Amino acid sequence: MEKLKNYINGILVTPYSNNYLNIYNPSTGEVFTMAPDSGKEDVELAVDAAKKAFPEWSGMSINKRASYLIRISELIEKNLDKLAQAETKNNGKPLWLSKSVDIPRAVKNFEFFASAITQFASESHHDAGTLNYTLRQPLGIVGAITPWNLPLYLLSWKLAPALAAGNCVIAKPSEITPLTAFMLSEICIEAGLPDGVLNIIHGYGHSAGSAIVSHPSVKAVTFTGGTKTGVEISKIAAPMLKKLSLELGGKNPNIIFSDCNYGKMMDTTVQSSFRNQGEICLCGSRIFVEKKIYDKFKNDFVERAKKLKIGDPMLNGTDMGAIVSKPHFEKILYYIDLAVNEGGKILCGGKKLKLDGKLEGGWYIQPTVIEGLPYDCRTNQEEIFGPVVTLIPFESEEEVLMMANSTEYGLASILWTEDLSRAHRIAAGIKTGIVWINCWMVRDLRTPFGGMKNSGVGKEGGIDALRFFTESRNVTISIDC
Ligand code: NDP
Repeated sequence: MEKLKNYINGILVTPYSNNYLNIYNPSTGEVFTMAPDSGKEDVELAVDAAKKAFPEWSGMSINKRASYLIRISELIEKNLDKLAQAETKNNGKPLWLSKSVDIPRAVKNFEFFASAITQFASESHHDAGTLNYTLRQPLGIVGAITPWNLPLYLLSWKLAPALAAGNCVIAKPSEITPLTAFMLSEICIEAGLPDGVLNIIHGYGHSAGSAIVSHPSVKAVTFTGGTKTGVEISKIAAPMLKKLSLELGGKNPNIIFSDCNYGKMMDTTVQSSFRNQGEICLCGSRIFVEKKIYDKFKNDFVERAKKLKIGDPMLNGTDMGAIVSKPHFEKILYYIDLAVNEGGKILCGGKKLKLDGKLEGGWYIQPTVIEGLPYDCRTNQEEIFGPVVTLIPFESEEEVLMMANSTEYGLASILWTEDLSRAHRIAAGIKTGIVWINCWMVRDLRTPFGGMKNSGVGKEGGIDALRFFTESRNVTISIDC
């Protein structure tokens, strides 16, 4: 079995410990490769390499730096099919999704930030007798830690702006889905990225991840993952006065008023509930429906959910593939049991699914719709991160805003109404970092991305990302008048 390697100082290397972790194909439950179980020593090598690389990389002309990012994006695009196959094999998501969303978005992330950095202006402020100008300089070495649900998509979302701004990076992808990150290492070598500019270390969060976070030479940490892990990372990084960007969990409300464009809402709500097996931090997991249309919505939605095809992620007709890992599969099933114990009624799904043949050992869960639960029960307050949604009727705008805002999370919300004034009122009143009105997952990379409350600290995307990955320095010049 071919083993994955770390990418340190421009080459692929085995871990210092020589220990490896099993990497699974969730659609079959079988181990298909192994990844380095890295630790402090590997991170130390990466930091040394990044330190050596930093002066030249940060001092390089912006156009030249951008040209490396463009080359990387071109090579990702050239290898789109291979990368999509790998993403699906390692994550369990349908191949059509990897091909149409995950990998194309990784291409876009590098392309976008290669261009954005050439437009990144610094400010100047004039007054009588003085001129101020602000330098925006890279931070140095940055740590990037990413989750398993959108492996290459989210990794590239962090790497592209960090590198474009002139930093050197030490990245740790989720130990569950390291395959496309490893392939990205090979692409960076082919692109001729200077040695040490990017280092990718594989391994567990508690060893490799925390060695990156706690290293004194790592000046900033950008993290996407669960809220609990975000808190752990902050406990280490905050006392060391590191810059932190945390993109964390969510429990997103999907609010449906009776005056919505019903057909568009229904098509999109099926997607926003179950796409990627519900394993997108932006999925709407609590569906609030105005009482007037509650029964109609319930019947239509359940019928649509029942029609979704769960099966081999490699096949074109598959709507939902496998759950990413056995522990996560068990966590989702635990929450379905909890919902029943809390008095919820399962309208469809609610069970694991045993498929035949080579898929027999895979981790599949039916799309699950639950009603009859109070808005403040655990099922409606805690993140499940799977193909499970609850339906909650509401009567007034005030009531739905109160329920929508009742969780500790504040990542994204979805709103369906044709009433313009109401749309603006709710957008201003709902406590989430992202509000989608009559759409979902529509992303303009120039806009700020990130959550409020326990869903995160700081924003990424566009100029916010470039500001996070640089430090401002103001220079004041006295002018003799
Ligand atoms: P985790 O928080 O478990 O892990 C995320 C990453 O952090 C992994 O690489 C993990 O490694 C690493 N890690 C774990 N512990 C530590 C530690 N002590 N120090 C440093 N690194 C550590 O999240 P999941 O991978 O389970 O991803 C799902 C979560 O991500 C959900 O809560 C989801 O909402 C959130 N998410 C948020 C998004 C957003 O934009 N706000 C987008 C996508 C997902 P290891 O794999 O070894 O544990």
